[in-house]
Amino acid sequence: GTLSIASMLAETARRFPDRTALHFMGQATTYGDLWDRTRAYAGALAARGIGPGSRVAMIVPNVPDFPRVYYATLALGAVVVPVHLLFRTDEIEFVLRDAAADVVVVAAPLLADAAPAAARAGVPLVSVLVPAATARQLAERGTPVARLEDEADAATPIARHAGVNPLAAATILYTSGTTGTPKGAVGSHLAMVEQVHCSLIDSFDLRPDDVVYGGLPFFHSFGQMAVLNMAFRRGASIVLLPRFDPDEALELLVAHGATVFTAVPTNFAGMVEAARRTTARPPLRFAVSGGAALPVALLEAFEEAFGAQVHEGYGLTETSPSCTFNVTSEPIRPGTVGRPIWGVDVAVAVAEVEDRVELLGVPGSGSESGSASGGVSELGEIVVRGHNLMKGYLGRPDASAAAVVDGWFRTGDLGTVDADGIVTIVDRKKDMIIRNGYNVYPTEVEAVLARYPGVALAAVFGVPDAARGQEVHAAIVPSYGADIDPDAVVAYMREHVAAYKYPRVVHVSADLPLGPSGKVLKRELTALHTAPAS
Ligand code: ATP
Repeated sequence: GTLSIASMLAETARRFPDRTALHFMGQATTYGDLWDRTRAYAGALAARGIGPGSRVAMIVPNVPDFPRVYYATLALGAVVVPVHLLFRTDEIEFVLRDAAADVVVVAAPLLADAAPAAARAGVPLVSVLVPAATARQLAERGTPVARLEDEADAATPIARHAGVNPLAAATILYTSGTTGTPKGAVGSHLAMVEQVHCSLIDSFDLRPDDVVYGGLPFFHSFGQMAVLNMAFRRGASIVLLPRFDPDEALELLVAHGATVFTAVPTNFAGMVEAARRTTARPPLRFAVSGGAALPVALLEAFEEAFGAQVHEGYGLTETSPSCTFNVTSEPIRPGTVGRPIWGVDVAVAVAEVEDRVELLGVPGSGSESGSASGGVSELGEIVVRGHNLMKGYLGRPDASAAAVVDGWFRTGDLGTVDADGIVTIVDRKKDMIIRNGYNVYPTEVEAVLARYPGVALAAVFGVPDAARGQEVHAAIVPSYGADIDPDAVVAYMREHVAAYKYPRVVHVSADLPLGPSGKVLKRELTALHTAPAS
């Protein structure tokens, strides 16, 4: 079969060889050139013995080499293992061993952390973006580094992409580790191709003449699917940005006439701030938010600053990633994550039973669903089934089995499904704060904080407290030029939310700890503000 990820790029390159695939550092790469170089990279990897079923780890930021290495690997029928860019030596070694990588491709700036990891794991390393002169110096010093560019120049490009079993593994994506030991979610070609097509047909109408923001990291499921694979399937252009900086992002989007902005909420907050410093705006048609809850106040501020509607979706690495979406063809429902995408069922598990889940809000099953008569379902864990599910966690049958109950994947998120099938995510189970026995959902408190004048970004988190179990804290990044008085914020919140919910302690700081995909790291905030045990 040829229903594969690589076939999507091959087909787009055949149809639109002269269209721009990538804008990077003032240079445009056409689809024709990209596919030619990808076939040369594949030739180089093949010369290293990479073939069907091999595993190619890659530590590459959002530069043109990311798609080259990614599609070259997939074109050989091999499996891509994109590694988190913030992983340090020990974490990289863990992934290389866990995934049993056959080779690791590393971009120059990340060699210092990756080289010792590869050596320890016994995995051959080949670099990209190391200048030839630097490589010569390294060789003279007795630490030679192989360059994939040289190997590609010397290799015979592959003629075409390999046929693959659509159910075979295409990617192994390690969960971001915001909440524990990384697990490799194995995604099949079919799940990913279907996800791309469902999104392109139903969720948002991406066009070949669209120019898409490419700042979401491609190693992460969201950027890889919603930006890279979708734009390449359609023949749209991507403006690459290796590291998010709001002012730089806005400038690039304006310079390239970007029409689509797909990002995580902290990026939206950054763009709203950047828009206070310049009047220039890109001609956005729409924006897509996912990866974390988007406060309604932020959605509104972005729409006002950019004149483009924001469509929020919900998903996980394990679900390729999209599960639900506020589609562009219907009015959005702010504060919700919209409706399940076609072919995906989303329900609420309200009872924890050994081998089955008690469900509410199952689409098309009136009697099984306690909420079918109308109104909002009971709060419970969001569970998902459909074509977008991963094959499982690599080498973790126990964790894979535990993640699925009665055919439903347990997301670890709490939420509701209403009578119309609209899904609302309340929070992650793990982020829920229990203060004096009361459940506090940080996302809800953050949505109120986002309305306080001068708040650019807010995070609510629990801090261990001897008397109450946990205390509610908030960390706030002030808006450009704004002055925030923590006591005034506490007073405001006391007026606007119930007594058990409002943050007792407000920290004002210039930034928040963010993960590589731009999500706020609540664990780090909790650690930062937990008093050391005396
Ligand atoms: P780890 O898996 O290591 O804990 P992570 O949870 O950030 O990291 P991802 O797969 O990147 O892993 O993110 C999926 C999670 O992101 C979801 O389970 C959910 O908690 C959150 N999320 C995604 N979209 C939304 C949204 N629109 N609203 C609220 N939360 C969201």
